[in-house]
Parts: sequence; C-alpha cells; structure tokens
Amino acid sequence: MAQHFDYIAIGGGSGGIASANRAAMRGAKVALIEAKHLGGTCVNVGCVPKKAMWHGAQVAEAIKLYAPDYGFDVELKNFDWGKLVESREAYIGRIHQGYNGYLAKNGVTVINGFAKFVDNNTIEVNGEHYTADHINITVGGRPTIPNIPGAEHGIDSNGFFELKAQPRRVAVVGAGYIAVELAGVLHSLGTETHLFVRKHAPLRNFDPILVETLTEVMEKEGPTLHTHAVPKSVTKEEDGSVTLHLENGESYTVDELIWAIGREPMTDLINLAATDVETTPSGHIKVDEWQNTTAKGIYALGDIMDGGIELTPVAVKAGRMLAERLFNPELPNAKMDYDLVPTVVFSHPPIGTIGLTEPEAEEKYGKDNIKVYTSTFAAMYTAVTQHRQPCRMKLVCAGKEEKVVGLHGIGFAVDEMIQGFAVAMKMGATKADFDSVVAIHPTGSEEFVTMR
Ligand code: NDP
Repeated sequence: MAQHFDYIAIGGGSGGIASANRAAMRGAKVALIEAKHLGGTCVNVGCVPKKAMWHGAQVAEAIKLYAPDYGFDVELKNFDWGKLVESREAYIGRIHQGYNGYLAKNGVTVINGFAKFVDNNTIEVNGEHYTADHINITVGGRPTIPNIPGAEHGIDSNGFFELKAQPRRVAVVGAGYIAVELAGVLHSLGTETHLFVRKHAPLRNFDPILVETLTEVMEKEGPTLHTHAVPKSVTKEEDGSVTLHLENGESYTVDELIWAIGREPMTDLINLAATDVETTPSGHIKVDEWQNTTAKGIYALGDIMDGGIELTPVAVKAGRMLAERLFNPELPNAKMDYDLVPTVVFSHPPIGTIGLTEPEAEEKYGKDNIKVYTSTFAAMYTAVTQHRQPCRMKLVCAGKEEKVVGLHGIGFAVDEMIQGFAVAMKMGATKADFDSVVAIHPTGSEEFVTMR
C-alpha cells in the first residue's frame, strides 16, 4: 500500500526544504525526498561553500594587500587549503544538523532515496510507493559540460569543492557568476588563475558600469582574463596536467580546468514521461505564475522551472508562497513575485545589482525617458592604503518622477549594501525618495543617496 501525504517535495534543496517546512507549519502531512545531502546545491556545492572560500580569499587580501599600510608587520607564510576546506565542511555539517532538526520539529517525514514518478500522483523511492495530493518538483540542476573532445578532463563547480589541495595553476572557462566567483577566489588565495570567456567580457549582460569596472580590476590585479577565447578541445598530459586548446590556436596547460558555462535542469532522471508535466527542449518545466505545471497537482520551482531565476532565495520564496497558497486559507492567492530580485556576485570586488540595466531601461522606456546617475570613488578601506580599488555605482531612473528602476554597484562591501535598497525599489522609490534620506557617513552606501 502506498503511503499518502498531503504534500511531497521531490528534492531537499533550498526550494524543497522551504516549501516542506512551510506546508507542515500550516498543518499539512508532508514528506521531503532527498537522495543525497539536505540543502541541495546551495548548501553543499554552491552558495555556502563558495562564500566560505570567498571569505578566505578576503582574509588573504587583507594580509597581502592591506595590512602593511594599516601598520601591521605581517607575513603570509603558508596557506593551508585543507584547513579552510575542513572549517567549511564543519560549518556545512552544522547546517545539515539544523535542517534535520527544523524538519523534525515541523513533523516533516524525510525520505532518503531517489524519486521517480509512477503516475501523476504516485512516486517510487527505494521500491516503496508514495502518493500525494500535491507534488512539488524541486530537483535543481547540475553543471553543464561542453560537448568538445577531452571535456571530461576538466572538472565542474562540484569538482572544485572536492579539491583537497590547492591547485597551482587553474583555467576557469565561463563568463557567468560561477566562473567569475571561482576565478576570483582562486586568484586571491594564490593560485595562478586564467579566466577564459568566449565573448568580449565576463558578466556581459550585467550593467556596463559593472562589466567595465570588473574587467578593469581584473586586468590590473588578476586573474588573467582571456577574452574571445573559445574552447576547442582538452588533452591530458602525462604528468596529470591538462591543456586547454582554443579555437584561435592558443593552448594553456594547467593543473585543473574548471567548466563554469551554465547549469542544466535534472528533470531527465525522475521519469516525467509517466506524468502530464511538459518540459521545454532544454528540460526546464513549464509552469504558470502559480508554479502549476501542466499536470494538475504537480508544481515546479527553482532552477528547473522555465523562465525562472537560478538563485537560492528565489526558490525559497517561491516554495514558501506555494505552500501558503495550498495550505493557508488566508493566503489563497499567494505567489512569488519575480520582479526586482536583488542579486550579488561575489566577485573581486563584489557586485550588487537590482532591476534593469541601463540598456534594458533604454529599451523599455526609451532613451529620452531615463536619467542615469553615477558615482565613482575609491572605497575608503582601500583608499587609506596604496592598494586603491574603485567603487562605482549607478542609479537608473525612469519617467518624470524618476522612479528608480535599476541600481548597480561594484566595490568593497557592495554585497552588504543593496538588500535595503531592494525594499525601497519594491515600494516604488523615486530618486527624490533616495535624496530625502540622510546619508550614513563615512560609508560606501551613502553614495546611493547623494548622487547628483
Ligand atoms: P551562467 O548561466 O550565469 O553563466 C554561464 C556563462 O558561460 C554563459 O552565460 C556564457 O556566457 C558562458 N558560456 C556558455 N556556454 C559556453 C561555452 N560552451 N564555452 C564558453 N563559455 C560558455 O552560469 P553559471 O554556471 O555561472 O551559474 C549558474 C547560475 O547559478 C547563475 O545563473 C546564477 O543564477 C546562479 N549562481 C548564483 C550565485 C550568486 O547568487 N552569487 C553564485 C553562483 C551561481 P557568454 O555568452 O557571455 O559567453
């Protein structure tokens, strides 16, 4: 006999866990199915370990670049990669414990195993059948590996987090969040790092002020940026190193080659063919604005949904909203708002961005209907030293009322500046609203409310 639940989430990543907990808090009988570790990509091989490595890189930069001018006579004698990995993994272990405790407290049944659909209402895990009125597919994605000869000699972001020792030379291929973040971390920690992007710049769809500044800093400080670099093949050398061959005839030999060229949904493994769930050719699941798939009672959210935003907090919010809609009679219309999602790239220096880029705003409102404000300065933390680093910010405003439709920043501590501005923009803040706020001095964030 199949065990029956009100709600089953397939995939114990950020979206699945958030939705399961919220559904259980609203009184539903809930199961969460996870084949590996709770926390999914973000906690195990994504945001969390990445941020730990990024903080490690910040410590290295503080010692190497900034400590001397602050009067500290310190010398970086050794960096123990293994110790950083140990601290990182211990922290992740504590997150797993926290998740287990919270799910247990809410009465969520956690099923360990790989789920496959039997039909629209039934799932099989380890030979057992489970049925539910509502099934949420939150299985997430996996890194994409390019289809070129020898690609298997490279590793992906999962492989990066498995590295037990620091590679001496690394090639990172890709131009998105992951490529930029991993290349920056490796470079700051002392690895000779090359970033290969196939077009003119990394993060090329971000606002130009961010792209130009990031490129400028990379060119000055590293990692070594190779533009218009299209991978052709990879060969393995006798000593274990790998050589990346480019279309332009150049070749680079490194200890590790990391592919960071995007991610693909893991919807091919759960026997969706047994259901009425429709996917796009890329494997993303088609959903409406309520996360409903084309099969009644089946939902999808997070990295696997068509037209979504591949960010952990987006999956978390979408999961909670879905659970509220299904199980909270007071919120029958709850749904995720995908507009004005703030995001940070933990690059060197970090980037924060909300809303439209300047080109996007021009396209949407017309060039004559937008006004752009910018600010450029050296972040004080760096300006006190000889190692000055630029901080650049931009507000993109639309219409006569100058509604702030885009906010972009790159520089020291920008990652911790933008969350509150996202609240203001969600509330429809105008440039005049920004100006009406008293600046906090001396900070970097004050520039956002003092632009002329
Ligand atoms: P992205 O989709 O962000 O970027 C990958 C980029 O790699 C593409 O945009 C493309 O850029 C380039 N690329 C694609 N194919 C090839 C190829 N064959 N050869 C060379 N370059 C190629 O993917 P990521 O893997 O960086 O990250 C996945 C998602 O995870 C992100 O979109 C982000 O939402 C999320 N994430 C968020 C983080 C955060 O919040 N801080 C951190 C890490 C990930 P181009 O066309 O310019 O060449």
